[in-house]
Amino acid sequence: MQVDYPLIRTIHRLLKQIADLDERLEKGPRQIVIAQRAEKAFVADMETVKDSRIKSKMSADDKQLQLAEREARIEDLKIKRNGVSSNKEFQLLTDQIAADEQANSVLSDEILELLEKIDGLDADVVKAQENLEKSHQETKKVEERINQEMANLQSESDRVANELKMHESQLPAELKNEYQRVVGKRGEETLAETDLQTCGRCFQMISPQTRSELVMQQFVLCKSCGSILYIKENTPLPG
Ligand SMILES: [Zn+2]
Repeated sequence: MQVDYPLIRTIHRLLKQIADLDERLEKGPRQIVIAQRAEKAFVADMETVKDSRIKSKMSADDKQLQLAEREARIEDLKIKRNGVSSNKEFQLLTDQIAADEQANSVLSDEILELLEKIDGLDADVVKAQENLEKSHQETKKVEERINQEMANLQSESDRVANELKMHESQLPAELKNEYQRVVGKRGEETLAETDLQTCGRCFQMISPQTRSELVMQQFVLCKSCGSILYIKENTPLPG
């Protein structure tokens, strides 16, 4: 049996193409995952801002309630003060009213600060929503682009696989058996080209015996890596 080297070269080229296409088919979905992860981060950002806004609003409401209660109490104290007879009692109530008014003044400032903070957070929520929407659109674009690319790569891969099958069917039986035994596991590593000096895959030196077998186009496996050897195109033949 003589090995048809041009046929083997073609098969090897097609196996390499399939390996390359498979690698690209594997990488595609990862880009979608990266975009989705970025979008999730923007969702988390927005939730943080919204949460902060809710807490600030609750705190402002609480303080406003406290303020109103204390104002009512001040009114009560003023009415009470109108009815007292002793100077001492009058002074005591006056001091208490002054203390409550002081406390309310501090509280009013705090409420004002919180309301300003809420305004700022409202703007942050709008910004976060814009960022999220932009990221969502970006994810959609990436998904569409990658899915289109995947479909193209898949049809290219199918086309190459068909071409490969056609060429594989032309292999002589003995070679075909060995080839098919390993190609499922090793893919393009089933085959290795050689310049008759070293194996193109593992760079093991080619022995004179192997060299002459190759020149006679016999079926030879590399003794080191086990690949089916074939002579590289345009290799000058000895003798
Ligand atoms: Zn080898």
